[in-house]
Formats: sequence, C-alpha cells, structure tokens
Amino acid sequence: MEHPMYAFFQGKIVPISEAKVDVRTNALQYGTAIFEGIRNYWNDKEKCNYVFRMQDHYRRLFSNANILMIKIKYTLEELCDITLELMRKEDYREDAYIRPFAYNSGLKIGPKLIDNEQDLFIYSIPLGEYLETSKAINVCISSWARIPDNCIPPRAKISGSYINSALQKTEALLNGYDEAIVLTSNGQHVSEGSAMNIFMVRNGALITPPVFDDILEGVTRDTILKIAKEKLGIETTQRSIDRTELYIAEELFFCGTGAQISPIGSVDKRSIGNGQMGALTKKIQDLYFKVVKNEISQYESWCTRI
Ligand code: PMP
Repeated sequence: MEHPMYAFFQGKIVPISEAKVDVRTNALQYGTAIFEGIRNYWNDKEKCNYVFRMQDHYRRLFSNANILMIKIKYTLEELCDITLELMRKEDYREDAYIRPFAYNSGLKIGPKLIDNEQDLFIYSIPLGEYLETSKAINVCISSWARIPDNCIPPRAKISGSYINSALQKTEALLNGYDEAIVLTSNGQHVSEGSAMNIFMVRNGALITPPVFDDILEGVTRDTILKIAKEKLGIETTQRSIDRTELYIAEELFFCGTGAQISPIGSVDKRSIGNGQMGALTKKIQDLYFKVVKNEISQYESWCTRI
C-alpha cells in the first residue's frame, strides 16, 4: 500500500490525488496558515495504532487559529473524529505523521488575515525517524536568529515562519552538521532547534528554555516536563540558557513530535559529555517510547487507539 491514499479536503475524505489547491491560494502566496504535526505510533505487540496527544495538538491549533484570526469550522471533537476516520482508511502498519493545516484558502491577492475564505485539510505520511534517536547527533549554533514574537510569533506554528527553520536547517546541513540550535534574536539566549525543543542536563538538573524565549510550546516538551516529574521524580527548571552553557552541559537532547527524543553529541565541535547519549536522556527516551505506544497505563488518556 502506498501511503498516503487519502486526505480530508474541502469537507470530505478524498483520494490524495484530488486534494489540490489553486495557484492563487493566499496561504501558498503568503504563508498565511497554521498547522500541526501529530504522530501515529504503530504498536507491534498489540498490532494497532495509537495517535499521541491528538486533543492537545488540536487545542494548540485552536489557540494558534486565534492568533492568526483563522476560523476553524469544525469543533475539536469533529477534528479528532475526522482524523481517526482518515487514519482508519489509511490502515498504517508503521509510524506515521498527521498534518492538519488551517489556511487562508481564498484567492484574493494581498497579505492580510481578514476578508478571505479559510479552510482546513488533513493528510498523513509514513514517518520513521526524523532525527537519529539511537545515536548522538552533531549540531551547530545557527547564524540565523529565531524570529521574535513581535515579528512572526514562533509559538503559533505558522507555515510562513518555517522559512526561518529552513534557513537554519539548510545552513547546518551544508556545513556538515545534523541540526541547528538557534538563539533568540538579540543573540542572548538559546531558543530551540529548527523544528524541535531542547533540554539540557547540568549538575544532574533538567533545564529547558522558557516559553518567552521564542520557542514553539511543544507538546513533547510538555510531555517530558510531566513524565520526568511523575515517573523519574525530576522537576525541570524553565529558564533562559546561555550559548556557552550548552558547551559545558553534561547532556543535551532535542525533542519534538517528529524528532522524538534525539541526543546531541556535540555543539559547535565541542563534545557534550562523552559525546554519546547521556544516561538521563536514555532514561527519558525509554520512558517516552513506552508512553507514546500506550505501554504505561498512567498515560493512556494521551493515546487514542485508531
Ligand atoms: N519547535 C518547532 C519550531 C517545531 O516546529 C516543533 C515541531 N512541531 C517543535 C518545537 C516541537 O513541538 P511538538 O513537540 O509539539 O512537536
């Protein structure tokens, strides 16, 4: 089976080949759209799929719709039902990624957020690893700064804002790194990765940048805050992080729906710890992979069986 076979488009599930937008679409021209990325996990023991924290992703979509003044014409429950119906039809036997996309679908010229039609589509793709999870990756500090909240709000997951991510990621790859870490626009603090949040271990403590350092408020970040506290007894400190603190950290890892938990082995050629995945990172990763596959009953409400 070649996935995806279907998309939810203009109010119904259609073959993916029929889900096409007009070249004049406002969102295509100006990036006036918001989106989500949700993971579907194949549980090979139970031979079934679980969608991870679907309601929370849709809650974030509704918040972000408010920032961009996009009216979503479905309720949260309807979006969840549509997603499950779509995924049932796809019938995956592997991990996949679900992409809901709410956008200015009108054909009027001009970048504005009012007086235009709006719509929403959903499709999925098979997705194994987006970044390495079993071995530590090499990253650099990007020469590109993170877009600040008063330019394009990073928390809103706006499609047009991903040019900022694309510049960071491309520069990193062209220079031989796996990923980039980006600083806030004044260069003072660590913000996040090109499409993932970051955690640091220093003196055994878990630290992550606060929401006001121009990060996307990640669902995975939130998951780690909760499971580290509830299952490992570790409270995470949310505070600004300096660039050079990264160089002397014991452990660093990225997290995100796509990235999952990806250990960082070096930053700007400085080795982090022994350059391998750190012990606490491994503990959190093991726990995370169990949680997302509904193997820990305490978190079963996060996992929706398809
Ligand atoms: N930051 C950015 C810029 C992202 O694109 C993502 C991926 N959505 C994340 C962080 C991680 O967010 P989440 O855990 O909700 O996937």
